[in-house]
Amino acid sequence: MFTSKIFGFLALLMLSGQALSQEVLNLYSSRHYDTDERLYSEFTEQTGIVINRLEGNADELIARIAAEGVNSPADVLLTVDTSRLERAKAAKILQPVESALLERRIPSYLRDDENQWFGFSQRARIIFYDTADVAEPPQTYQDLANPRFAGQVCIRSSSNVYTQTITAALIGHLGEAAVTEWAARVVENFARPPEGGDTDQLRGLVSGECDIALSNTYYFARALRRHVSGLSDHVGDIGWVFPNQNSTGAHMNLSGGGVAAHAPNRENAVKFLEYLASPSAQQYFSAGNDEYPAVQGVGLSPSVAALGIFRPDVLDAAIIADNVAAAQGILNRVGWK
Ligand code: FE
Repeated sequence: MFTSKIFGFLALLMLSGQALSQEVLNLYSSRHYDTDERLYSEFTEQTGIVINRLEGNADELIARIAAEGVNSPADVLLTVDTSRLERAKAAKILQPVESALLERRIPSYLRDDENQWFGFSQRARIIFYDTADVAEPPQTYQDLANPRFAGQVCIRSSSNVYTQTITAALIGHLGEAAVTEWAARVVENFARPPEGGDTDQLRGLVSGECDIALSNTYYFARALRRHVSGLSDHVGDIGWVFPNQNSTGAHMNLSGGGVAAHAPNRENAVKFLEYLASPSAQQYFSAGNDEYPAVQGVGLSPSVAALGIFRPDVLDAAIIADNVAAAQGILNRVGWK
């Protein structure tokens, strides 16, 4: 009886030992790009660490990790946009990471000041226009408010994080009073009440509903690389401007992530973040999803390179993050739907 109990205990130990030998990483991700698959499989090939992926809406994932608390199986949260990364930090679901490699490879303006999150790829949010209808397109974000573009501008709603983040960046440069006036005038220039995603803003140029649209670069680069309905057949009629080239540079939107506060596989989580900063993973952000790498010196895919060289805005992400709440207030006050 006694021996069989001991034996049972040993068997259990062996079983759990076996389970432990399989290294895992529990990844909570809201990146919505099917091309990311290879990014994950390469990590497993390199390290033997199997990725268990839970995908979902960013705010739901953040709420879920918070609700799971100390028992959360989450090791890494990956998401898009500075506003969301900062929301995750504020919800106390991330932890600081000490990694000489990450600090060396990711410029300080693309990561949290406490290294709770890191940006791994960037997307420029720029002006696109219908070349048949707009002879002199806006050259700056400020120009979007110019009355000469009345009824021409298609842009996303104020509930969209991209809109909130670019407004927060503008506050960082111009201050709240100037941005309040800017936002009110942009609303007056709307071609239609804000609706749909970035691809829909670009499609509006094709349909004729919009003459000017604001979109992240990867939606357009994607249409250059492969067929996107309602867009790819007409990319030749669309021009683009990297805004604010003589001043602050084009606004860059981040995709990034951090290690979860109670990560059960913390070491694997750090390894994964370091992998995302590796040359091959960085290249993949460009080749797979038409983004700009966060690490300097990594080559661009042809569809991204085709957009041309430009000056990016290097405003510190922490400043953007600090202004997100003020941006939301302004957008609501001026009636930006
Ligand atoms: Fe997007």
